[in-house]
Amino acid sequence: MKKRILLAVALTVFCTAALAQNPLLQRRYGTPYEIPPFEKITVDNYREAMLKGMEQEKAEIQAIIDNKETPNFQNVIVALSESGDLLSKAGIWSNLNSASSTPELQALARELSPIRSAHSSWISMNKPLFDKIKYVYDHRDEYNLNKEEKTLLDRTYQSYVKGGVLLSPDKQKELAAINLELSNLQLQFSQNLKHDTNQTYVIANSLKELEGLPQANIELAAKLAEKIGQKGKWAFNMQRASCNPVLQYCKNRELRKKVYLMYNDRCNHNDEYDNKEIARKIIDLRLKKANLMGYKNFAEMQLKDRMAENAKNVYDLLDQIWAPAVAKANEELADIKAMMKKDKVKGQPQPWDYMYYLDKAKKAKFDIDEALVSEYLEINNVQKNGVFYVANKLYGLNFRERTEDYPVYEATAKSWDVIDRDGNVIAIYYSDYFPRDGKNAGAWNTTFRGQRYDGAQRLQPIVLNCCNLAMPSGDRPALQTIDNVTTMFHEFGHALHSFFRNVKYRGTPGVERDFVELPSQVNEHWAFEPEVLRNYAKHYKTGEVIPQELVDKIEASSKYGQGFATVEYLAASLVDMDLHCLEEVPADLDVMKFQAEKLAERGIPKQILPRYSVTNFSHSLGGGYSAGYYSYIWAEVLDCDAFKAYQETGDIFNQEVAERFRKYILSPGGIDKGSVMYHNFRGREPKVDGLLENRGLK
Ligand SMILES: [Zn+2]
Repeated sequence: MKKRILLAVALTVFCTAALAQNPLLQRRYGTPYEIPPFEKITVDNYREAMLKGMEQEKAEIQAIIDNKETPNFQNVIVALSESGDLLSKAGIWSNLNSASSTPELQALARELSPIRSAHSSWISMNKPLFDKIKYVYDHRDEYNLNKEEKTLLDRTYQSYVKGGVLLSPDKQKELAAINLELSNLQLQFSQNLKHDTNQTYVIANSLKELEGLPQANIELAAKLAEKIGQKGKWAFNMQRASCNPVLQYCKNRELRKKVYLMYNDRCNHNDEYDNKEIARKIIDLRLKKANLMGYKNFAEMQLKDRMAENAKNVYDLLDQIWAPAVAKANEELADIKAMMKKDKVKGQPQPWDYMYYLDKAKKAKFDIDEALVSEYLEINNVQKNGVFYVANKLYGLNFRERTEDYPVYEATAKSWDVIDRDGNVIAIYYSDYFPRDGKNAGAWNTTFRGQRYDGAQRLQPIVLNCCNLAMPSGDRPALQTIDNVTTMFHEFGHALHSFFRNVKYRGTPGVERDFVELPSQVNEHWAFEPEVLRNYAKHYKTGEVIPQELVDKIEASSKYGQGFATVEYLAASLVDMDLHCLEEVPADLDVMKFQAEKLAERGIPKQILPRYSVTNFSHSLGGGYSAGYYSYIWAEVLDCDAFKAYQETGDIFNQEVAERFRKYILSPGGIDKGSVMYHNFRGREPKVDGLLENRGLK
């Protein structure tokens, strides 16, 4: 007996010690701005904090349910909105899993997936909790709520209805099982894609095969080959930074073909990383879920709460752009054929020809050399004198680098204070620009901590931009392409949206999915304005400002290739919609065949494949943009129209317009519907003309 007591005491001491060592379980980190001390947090710490966080949230919710007072806005809706603090603190492991994944973090993701899914189901289908929410919702006129509070209440109520709380117990069980299976499948889809993006290679055996490829890319390919045990050769993985230059610059058609097919066919090799059947199951389960909730298909369920409202509105917009885009692509195709003839290449153009010959045609037409332009696009200049400069001119923001002072999760990431006009630090910003193993492909914005209030004090959001841009190579600094510069401005537009968010309650929703890309895409419009270019585009060797002649060429050629680019994008958007509008998913559905058939029906030129094939379409199948990939072009109608508001004043930095954009679009979160916020900003509905002009389709 005594022995057991001793053991219990020892265990308590041990557990307390473990607790003390887990930074996530401390009330405060004690770091500047409470930035997570990344280097001190282990994977076990994350696991422990996630499990404890779920327990804690359960207890918090149980306390709301057990509260004997009459339910009201404060003791139900606000209490619920503020619950789950530890869980959100611990949740940053998932940001790291995207930015700097390790096998341990991936294992943690697999381990937590079913537990989290069960936890969310417990909350979303909690009838006693919902009864209280419903009571408050039914009495909403008695509380004198302001606009934000009304939205918070309304969205809370709706999200529980959407979560299945009104279903019969049998159906709830079924829904929970579907959610669990979906989260596992989506995770598997993403992990397979990460494998095929980072760990499938095309190898070149001789320098001769690389004719046309810029020296910097040759060096990176040699390094990658060495790293994978193929010293003396050249290797390319399926990160765009690695394989795109081959498609754009390599004369060798065979090599381009290999790279193109390898990229396009990621997770379509009938091996253990194949995503065809996983994608089919995901589509099937989403349909089952929608049916269970009373919708005829998944798209209908998803679109109900978006700006677009229904599938018809989405197809209407996509169809409106499809025909002029295909016509433009066919014009470009004629240029490609002419270039191929000149090169004495026989046969029809193939998908792996178009980037290469479009680039050549562009050079011939506009006499522009993108490799030369890149020499003026050194990454630090672009960031400090381009991206930050525009934010300063529009919103008066200043940036103070703090990389040496603040915790870092990755040696190459930089950190900054974001300082408002009045001198206050309003956000902390991390820029993490370079590719590496374990980093997801693409570019994204996320927060380690969203904006929130601690009592009356606004806690600064901690915002992260992750990209996969061109790295330094040899004695050349990191010189970027025009596309990469656009990406930097894009992700920073999302970051601005995070910096300026200023809402009272943590649970106040963000903007609708098809409104999200407005802040990011509008920011792209400044990237190549001559005044901005002259400020950041300086030759990396001589410091010479980009010559006016080159600025003119960039401007003149900027719309070239938009036919192909638009068709490629629209094709992926249409397939995403078509899949999610299905009202029956056959057990033998081959998603790749489905994709090909649907696009052939629409008359897609056969040289163009969708930007993503279903098996590697993580936007659509992995989560975030399911029945939502159209959002980029939906938001583009808004961003082109919004930028016109500046142009119409004759000053792209017009302070009055910028102030309205900050006030009505960037600050209020999702307090209003997107259509209302846009109207507040512009004083009218958006028009589609700006988009067509901007893409040269009109
Ligand atoms: Zn974006």
